[in-house]
Amino acid sequence: MKNKVILLILDGLGYSYARKLMGNLEGWVEAGDAKVWQGQSVLPSASGPCYASIHTGLTPQDHGVTSNYHQGRLENADIFSAVKAAGGTTGAVAHSFFSDYFQSSPFNHLRDMEVDDINRPIQHARFYTMTGENKAQPATPSDIDLFWQMSLVIQRHHPDYFLFHSCTLDSLGHNYGFDSIQIDKNCYTIDAALGDFIPRWQEQGYDVIITADHGQSARGHHGGTEAIMRDIPIYYFANPNHPVQGPAPDHVIHQTAIAPSILQRMGVAIPESMQSTPVWT
Ligand SMILES: [Zn+2]
Repeated sequence: MKNKVILLILDGLGYSYARKLMGNLEGWVEAGDAKVWQGQSVLPSASGPCYASIHTGLTPQDHGVTSNYHQGRLENADIFSAVKAAGGTTGAVAHSFFSDYFQSSPFNHLRDMEVDDINRPIQHARFYTMTGENKAQPATPSDIDLFWQMSLVIQRHHPDYFLFHSCTLDSLGHNYGFDSIQIDKNCYTIDAALGDFIPRWQEQGYDVIITADHGQSARGHHGGTEAIMRDIPIYYFANPNHPVQGPAPDHVIHQTAIAPSILQRMGVAIPESMQSTPVWT
């Protein structure tokens, strides 16, 4: 692999909220140590469809995940299968939707919750389900615990591609709206943790990309066409030894370009089904 990549999906963190609340990420951008682009989610701007589009490079109209009610393994090539086909290794700490779409379906706790198996598409995986979530108990794992769990998997297995996904911000937004003190404080918590973890991951030889599946409105909704629902941040922290070349700062990166762009940056052959032009070298 030319480069190893970590992709972090912070569920629900829209572009405008990221740019005004994530002080560490923005500090590195201001200092010239990281880049940021605006991205645009597919439609519908809902979690499942966006997870599938980020990884397959296809629109929901093509990959078929048109809502969060979808269940079933996707047939299209995706980042995990492409990296594995190229002889690389993969890992994830994420919601079980990712296991259902890219690993095996239906999700089976005993088989799928913890995976270390080089024959599966996501070879080193830790999934959570958030079963029983409600307003009093959102059932999102601690983000700091997840960052450590991810660091542990990376230390043990050094996967070439690693997906991290956290639902915290999306869950709180649905419960309290995105214009809320709950969002302010939890963005601060995650941003502060990233201030410690990003340099650690970079030292381990990774590019770190931070994005969201979709945004969310002030009153806590998404799925539609409003800019606040579709506009997402795409931060890029390149391995300092291999600076990244990307598009102009005002170029809006469509969500379907993320998969082929990551594969191109990794030096992995891009599957024919991924038709969007890659943006990173
Ligand atoms: Zn989501």
